[in-house]
Amino acid sequence: MNSTQTTYENEVRMSLFLWLKEKESKNGGIFTRNELANDFYFNNKKITLLGASGIWFPQGFQIPISITTTTKGPYDDGLGENGILSYRYRGTDPNHRDNIGLRNACLTRTPLVYFISVLPSRYQAVWPIFIYNDDPINLRVEAAIDPAYKQQQYLPALAQIGNDSDESQLSMRRYITTVTRQRLHQSSFREYVLDAYDKSCTICRLQHPELLDAAHIIPDSHELGLPVVPNGLSLCKIHHSAYDQNIIGISPDYRLSVREDILEEVDGPMLEYGLKAIEGQLLNLPKRKSNYPNKDNLAFRFDEFKKVI
Ligand SMILES: [Zn+2]
Repeated sequence: MNSTQTTYENEVRMSLFLWLKEKESKNGGIFTRNELANDFYFNNKKITLLGASGIWFPQGFQIPISITTTTKGPYDDGLGENGILSYRYRGTDPNHRDNIGLRNACLTRTPLVYFISVLPSRYQAVWPIFIYNDDPINLRVEAAIDPAYKQQQYLPALAQIGNDSDESQLSMRRYITTVTRQRLHQSSFREYVLDAYDKSCTICRLQHPELLDAAHIIPDSHELGLPVVPNGLSLCKIHHSAYDQNIIGISPDYRLSVREDILEEVDGPMLEYGLKAIEGQLLNLPKRKSNYPNKDNLAFRFDEFKKVI
């Protein structure tokens, strides 16, 4: 491999990681296909970050910059329960250019970005990932998230993992990948819930995604609080907080109740229209019945609400 090109590629990768990090702070790690194809520049040159093939080399690159998974189901993201990403070769020829690219990324320990398609034309980015095992017999590679890079974020947990042996490095990677996987599910949860409710608050119909959250009906700290659409509600910030604080309750037949002392208060328009006026109203439900809030979950939360009134 050409070493000048290798140096250049590494500089592009480092700059890309910073760019992704900055964007992630605004978009929660969900990128549109359009921005991944058009918005990243290095030295005034546009670098396309993904393409038709799942294993992507920008023009002139010796080693891929990204790998992409197109998911079939909401959480079929290729990251296994053990925290390891198992990624299939392109086709069945281990010596196809794309597969050689994966092998070279493994041999040179080059960090890549992993894109998971969460909805049409929207991708969750995970980086940097390292391919640590090339398996031509089974036509796949195995990858994990780089602990060094994420270390800052997870320092307290990492301190418990121990020394620097290969085994502990690997378990560290598994651990971090598992944490990231949970975080991924949270961000894709938001995407799926907002999408199901046509990006509007199920209570007041507010249609500004930047003011909307995906609320859990049963909290995610509870073992039944899964990040799935039927355990979610698309709520504006104020209704989300009001629901979490049991100021508002939602019965299993989708009817809203407001805490009695709030109904008796007198104040400005937010209280009058935002809270008191919704008493007795029905939720604006998703188009698809399979996305409706789960009645058992609503009942579980409604019992909590009734305890405070
Ligand atoms: Zn609302």
